[in-house]
Amino acid sequence: MLDIKITRTDSPKEKPQGPLGFGKIFTDHMFMMNYTEGQGWHDPRIVPFQDLTLSPACVVFHYGQEMFEGLKAYRGEDGKSYLFRPDMNGKRTNKSNERLCIPQLPVEDFVQAVKAIVKVDEDWIPSDPGTSLYIRPFIIGTDAFLGVAPSQTYLFMIILSPSGAYYSSGLEPVGIWIEDDYVRAVRGGMGFAKTGGNYACSLAAQVKAHDDGYSQVLWLDGVERKYIEEVGAMNIFFKIDGKIVTPMLNGSILPGITRDSVLHLCRAWGLPTEERRISVDELLEAQKGGKLEEVFGTGTAAVISPVGKLRYQDEVMTIGDGSIGPVSQKLYDTVTGIQLGKLEDPFGWRVAID
Ligand SMILES: *Cc1c(COP(=O)(O)O)cnc(C)c1O
Repeated sequence: MLDIKITRTDSPKEKPQGPLGFGKIFTDHMFMMNYTEGQGWHDPRIVPFQDLTLSPACVVFHYGQEMFEGLKAYRGEDGKSYLFRPDMNGKRTNKSNERLCIPQLPVEDFVQAVKAIVKVDEDWIPSDPGTSLYIRPFIIGTDAFLGVAPSQTYLFMIILSPSGAYYSSGLEPVGIWIEDDYVRAVRGGMGFAKTGGNYACSLAAQVKAHDDGYSQVLWLDGVERKYIEEVGAMNIFFKIDGKIVTPMLNGSILPGITRDSVLHLCRAWGLPTEERRISVDELLEAQKGGKLEEVFGTGTAAVISPVGKLRYQDEVMTIGDGSIGPVSQKLYDTVTGIQLGKLEDPFGWRVAID
């Protein structure tokens, strides 16, 4: 158990009116905890949201030793606040930490810290349909040292951002660019870790895709550029000839919590699921044979993001009739229904903040 010291702000901000957007508004407080070699994690505290003072020589600025997480708090039907599978974010934190030589953080401390900061800023959780409080835990290496070595001091922080409905007018299918030049990750690299470096190296392809009118990049494997990996910040699923197929976790793909939840639900519904390698050629062939029935991304931000168009080199595959497929819709309704307490929670995924 962490002994969290709470210092409340004297000047609470005005709550935003109107559309919230994503990631631009921050709440009144933040969580902080330091790590020092020999001492471990110490001084857990909640303080007014504020800028940091750090040495310009900090490891994180030069060598990118950092990790982050993303989850949400929801205002339930009953007015109470809920998290969705926060222990999974705690476990994934430690997988990322291990890869990046960041010290381990007990999962129960992670969950306690998330609950504590959300509790303090609970009145920032929006309640309009589709809105939530986005939670961003992250850890940075803070040694002021230009040598390349794991930092001996770290800062673990959690900031909160009220976020708007991802879809303003129903679940609209997006266009996806299959990138065949740049790659995001390779096996043995850090694709499975949630870390800024994976995003820094994705920007160039994202700009290219945006310039061409596509909203997201779908990455291929880093070696043969033949097999499907994942989308920018989402895992990807295909419904091919009645089967729900997604790339297997091979070390270069981020193990999404939404991905895991979707697989659980599909299996519970008796839908055949497969986690395996999927080549672009297989998709092109399935499309030509009329067997590529649905395509959707999964991630905390959008939950389910239907894909209406996939571009690969000179080929553009149009999926379905431009509206969301039935399995995608059912998954969206079920996951969000569980998150908000509208539906039963057979897997025990919903966690109340009390
Ligand atoms: C966070 C993330 C996802 C989605 O993970 P969830 O736990 O479902 O939010 C997928 N891919 C990448 C690269 C990510 O960073």
